[in-house]
Amino acid sequence: MGKDEAQRRIEELRILLRENSRKYYVENAPDMSDQEFDFLMHELEALEAAYPEFYSPDSPTQRVGSDLGSEFVKRAHRYPMLSLGNTYSISEVEEFAARADKLLESGFSYCCELKFDGTAICLTYTGGRLTRALTRGDGTMGDDVTRNALRISNIPHTLKGDFPEEFEIRGEILMPYASFEALNRERADEGEAPFANPRNAASGSLKLGDSEEVAKRGLWCTLYHIPAQSVPFDTHYEALSKAASWGLPVSEHIKLCNSIEEIRAFIDYWDVARRSLPYATDGIVIKINELSAQRSLGYTAKSPRWAVAYKFKAEQACTPLLSIDYQVGRTGAVTPVANLAPVQLGGTVVKRATLVNADQIAALDVRVGDSVYVEKGGEIIPKITGVNLSLRPADVLPPAFPALCPDCGTPLVKQEGEAKWFCPNQDGCPTQIKGRILHFMGRKAMNILAGEATVEQFYAASLVKTPSDLYKISKYQLMSLEGWQDKAAQRFLDSLEDSKKVPFERVLFALGIRFVGESTARDIALHFGSIDAIASASKKDLLQISDVGEVVAGSVYEYMHKDAHMEEIGKLRLIGLKFEVTGGSDSVSAALAGKTIVVSGNFSISRDAMKELIAAHGGKCASSVSGSTSFLLAGSKPGPEKLRKCDQLGIPVISEDEFSKLLPSSEKNEAVQELTLF
Ligand SMILES: [Zn+2]
Repeated sequence: MGKDEAQRRIEELRILLRENSRKYYVENAPDMSDQEFDFLMHELEALEAAYPEFYSPDSPTQRVGSDLGSEFVKRAHRYPMLSLGNTYSISEVEEFAARADKLLESGFSYCCELKFDGTAICLTYTGGRLTRALTRGDGTMGDDVTRNALRISNIPHTLKGDFPEEFEIRGEILMPYASFEALNRERADEGEAPFANPRNAASGSLKLGDSEEVAKRGLWCTLYHIPAQSVPFDTHYEALSKAASWGLPVSEHIKLCNSIEEIRAFIDYWDVARRSLPYATDGIVIKINELSAQRSLGYTAKSPRWAVAYKFKAEQACTPLLSIDYQVGRTGAVTPVANLAPVQLGGTVVKRATLVNADQIAALDVRVGDSVYVEKGGEIIPKITGVNLSLRPADVLPPAFPALCPDCGTPLVKQEGEAKWFCPNQDGCPTQIKGRILHFMGRKAMNILAGEATVEQFYAASLVKTPSDLYKISKYQLMSLEGWQDKAAQRFLDSLEDSKKVPFERVLFALGIRFVGESTARDIALHFGSIDAIASASKKDLLQISDVGEVVAGSVYEYMHKDAHMEEIGKLRLIGLKFEVTGGSDSVSAALAGKTIVVSGNFSISRDAMKELIAAHGGKCASSVSGSTSFLLAGSKPGPEKLRKCDQLGIPVISEDEFSKLLPSSEKNEAVQELTLF
């Protein structure tokens, strides 16, 4: 293929892939299968590797997967990202207007906007293309999240119309309620802790290491500020209208106001109307519209003098506390939940609210029989924020936090540094047993087709106590349970059989070791290669993994040193589950056997795929260079720290090309494809 032809094909593939991911993620109606998509992606990756002169930061290849890990490059903001002065009082908004009136000589107007409850973002477009996205960070430096921003459906990669050559625009990344609820449902299914509110979910999602996952989170962007220095406009309103004409997402709920009365009307309207918006807002922003007026008002050290944020009061209700339930979770944590006399709050009837933990109950001095204040704020689960002491009956006593597990009667324990009480009876507490099995079966774990109701049914029929029991269930036993038909039973048994092919890193996640989430499990699995290596690892060995800290290392170490756990792992291994990365049919060759390899930089395939490739050829990956490193496999832009260490220790550094020569040639491509497709 000639150079011109290659360039044409690269452009064509980029359009095809971009279009299809939009259809997939935005419209939920993909034209091609995942496999076709991956195949074209590989073709594009190969072409871009062969013709690096056609590199483009917004190519779909640059937006897939991630090699950033959880750390992002920090970059300086061109103009500091300040926060706005906040107020909850209309009279302070009036003072703001009076001050502007006094200081400004010529006439001016106000631009009123919604205040979105998300996480701040600063986008830079160069030549009409998104070239950078930074978080607020500390206001001076932000995290470079460009890769992830490119996966947010309503952020345009390219602009249309008469956009300036280069400019910055700022706004907010939000998670709409619908995405938030879907995400929390999914997390509950997987046994993961739900996000407390859409704002946390949005900022957590924006900072994910895996941009594939970001694309699935249903994030949404709204933009509201072009730093005045960067573009010549007369008014803020004009700048935003222009931005909208270039295809940028600007809120339609903007109003120009000329008096404090109009501002007040805007606030009153949205204090009610915001409840029907599909995303969270927490106030109104009032900006002086004329940019010349903004310039003459200037800034304080922390915030602009030409804008103020009026925050809505959190919705609050006062209602009697009827009783407190103590609920046990999958991990054994006990959470107090308040049962309230039903009360209207933010458009819904609230009957339950969280009391967080024992310390919180004590701090609020909440007693059953009290009239308590309940707030919704940005949170979905309401919380109790105080007690109306003037309504306290004479005879109420502080609640006694249970000493025994409400589920199994085991004395609760509290570890140092933790606010929650735990039931330590992991292997005998019904809620914990059921929770663990549900987690084991989860889609991101063993992907066994059954839900919570089925687990209840199995547990009630004494069929399962540990995950390995699932594999002993016969079709006859299933059919004797209520509601099971031949077809459903077969499907369940088939999914059990399929789960034996699930790779080790997901099996490790499925075990439900405390603090070991999906990506930590993958890191640990790929680092050690087998359950035996993990079981014999010291805490110090575990700490070698870059994202593993004391807490995770301690939890894994303890888990592996409990006989009951090792016995269960033994049973699962006999059943045929994978407990090694390289074992069985996954192993392609032993070309790298005994080698410890550190991987750094970008490659023609994702870094995870590279690690899997190494494992498939019998090699072991380590996260940092040490005396036992065999060589550093360096792609483009390897870490300078790692290179220096290699130099110091005399450890060879090899390129991707040299590396591929170490592998049996006929199998390399096949292996790469197989591994990246799965
Ligand atoms: Zn218990």
